[in-house]
Amino acid sequence: MAVETAESLASRLALQQRAFLRDGPPSFTQRRDNLKRLAHAVKACADQLVQAVSADFGQRSRHETLMADIFPVIAAARHARFHLWRWMRPQRVWPGLELAPSRARLLPQPLGVVGIVSPWNYPINLALAPLVAALAAGNRAMIKPSELTPRTAETLAEMLGGLFPEEEVAVVLGGADIGAAFCELPFDHLLFTGSTEVGRKVLAATAQNLTPVTLELGGKSPCVIAPDADLTQAAARIAIGKLLNAGQTCIAPDYVLLPAGKTQDFVRHFTEAATALYPSLLANPDYTSIVSDAHYARLAGLIEDARQGGAEIVVIDPAREQPPPTSRKLAPTLILNPGDHLRSMQEEVFGPILPVLDYQSFDAALDFINARPRPLALYYFGPEDLNLRKLLARTRAGGVTVNETISHFIAENLPFGGVGPSGMGAYHGEAGFRAFSHAKPVLLQSRLNSRILLRPPYGKVTEMLLRFMLRG
Ligand code: NAD
Repeated sequence: MAVETAESLASRLALQQRAFLRDGPPSFTQRRDNLKRLAHAVKACADQLVQAVSADFGQRSRHETLMADIFPVIAAARHARFHLWRWMRPQRVWPGLELAPSRARLLPQPLGVVGIVSPWNYPINLALAPLVAALAAGNRAMIKPSELTPRTAETLAEMLGGLFPEEEVAVVLGGADIGAAFCELPFDHLLFTGSTEVGRKVLAATAQNLTPVTLELGGKSPCVIAPDADLTQAAARIAIGKLLNAGQTCIAPDYVLLPAGKTQDFVRHFTEAATALYPSLLANPDYTSIVSDAHYARLAGLIEDARQGGAEIVVIDPAREQPPPTSRKLAPTLILNPGDHLRSMQEEVFGPILPVLDYQSFDAALDFINARPRPLALYYFGPEDLNLRKLLARTRAGGVTVNETISHFIAENLPFGGVGPSGMGAYHGEAGFRAFSHAKPVLLQSRLNSRILLRPPYGKVTEMLLRFMLRG
C-alpha cells in the first residue's frame, strides 16, 4: 500500500467529491443495497476480523469481538435498512399562518463526503458503525482507522476495497501524523472517535475549513450505587461491564461511588464475580490483553502511583499467576478510597482498574460527579425511586444505563454521544442518519399569498397586516 501524504489524501477526497457531484444522492434502493452488502461482508469476514483483532491486541476474546465489534455493525445496518424509507421521506412542516397558504418541507440530503477517524479499542465497530450511518444518509466516506490495530485496519481496507469503489468508500492507513493531515481535509462532515486530548486538536484543525464535526470522546464514567441497592447484583454487573475487553471500553465504569461502610462488602462481591468470570488470566481466551506495551506501562503506573499514594490495592488473580508484563494481561485491580490527587482519579482509567470511593450522602455523590468534567456514561444501581430521579435531573452525562452497564450503547433508538468534554453530537440509528444529513428547508409558495400585500408602496393594508403580525 502506498504511503499517504497530504497530497494523496487531498486527491482521494477530490475523487469522492467529484463522484458525489456527478452521480447525485444515491436512491433508496442503492442505499439499502450498500447496507446489505456491508453487513454480509462483515459476517463473511468475521473469522478473519476476529483473528486480526486478536493478533493486534495480543489476545482478544473471540466472543467479545463478535459481541461488541461485529454484532453492533450488523445490527446497525439491519436497523438502518428497516427504517431508511421513513428517515429519507421529506418531512412536512407547517410554515405558519403568515405564509398561508404555502407549504413547507424538510428534505433530508446527504452532506457529501464524510471523514471517519476511529480508535483501537473496538476497531471494527467504531470504524464501521459510523460508516453505516454515513451510507444510510447517502454519503461517500473516507475512514482513517487506528495505527495501534494495524492488522484489523488492513483487513477492513481489503474488505471495503472489495465492496465499494474507491470513489465511494476509501480507507486511509497511517499514524497520528496522517490522522492530523486527514482532519485538515475539507470534508463535508467529520466524525472523530478517540481521546478528549486529541479531540481538541481535531476541533482546532476542522475549524480552518468550518468542517462540521461529531466528536465521540472519552472521560471518567461514574457508577453510583444507591444506599438500598442490591450490592451483590451491582458488584456482579459492574464486574462484567468493567472487565469486558479488559476495561478498554470508552463507556466502562471508570470508578464506583458507594455508601460509606459498604466498601468491604463490595470488594468481596466484586472479587467473587470477577473470579467466576475469569478463574484464570494468563491462558484464558476470554480475558483480553492490554493493547500495547505503552498502555500496559501506563496502567501499571496508575497502580504504582496509587500504592505510593497510600491507597489500599486489591489485585484479583485467583490462579495466583502474577501475569508478567510481557503477557500484557493485567489482573483486575481495585483501588480503595484513592485521594483525588492520584492519577487514577485524574485521568480516564481505560483498563481493568477500578477506583472505589465511598460517600456520606447520596447528594454528596451527586456533588462529587458535578464537580468533575461531564462524563460519557453514568451508571446507577438501586431502585427506580427519588434517588434515581435526582440523579437523572441533576447530573449531565452523555448517556445513562440503570441497573446495568454499557447497554445503552446497543439500543439503536438511543442516540450515542457525549456532552461537553466527553463529546459533541451523537450517532446510532436515526440520530446517525440525521447527523450525516442536511435537513434542507424548502418553502413552496402558492400563486396567491399574503406577501403580495407586504410590499411598497406601504399603506393601510400593510399597517393592518403588521398589527396582526405583531400581535404578541
Ligand atoms: P486517540 O485519540 O489516541 O486516537 C484516535 C484516532 O485519532 C486514531 O486513529 C489516531 O491515529 C488518530 N489521531 C491521533 N492524533 C491525531 C491528531 N492529532 N489529529 C487527528 N487524528 C489523530 O484515541 P485512542 O487511544 O485510539 O482511543 C482511546 C480513547 O478513545 C479513549 O479516551 C476512549 O474513551 C475514547 N473512545 C471514545 C469512544 C466513544 O464512542 N465516545 C469510543 C471508543 C473510544
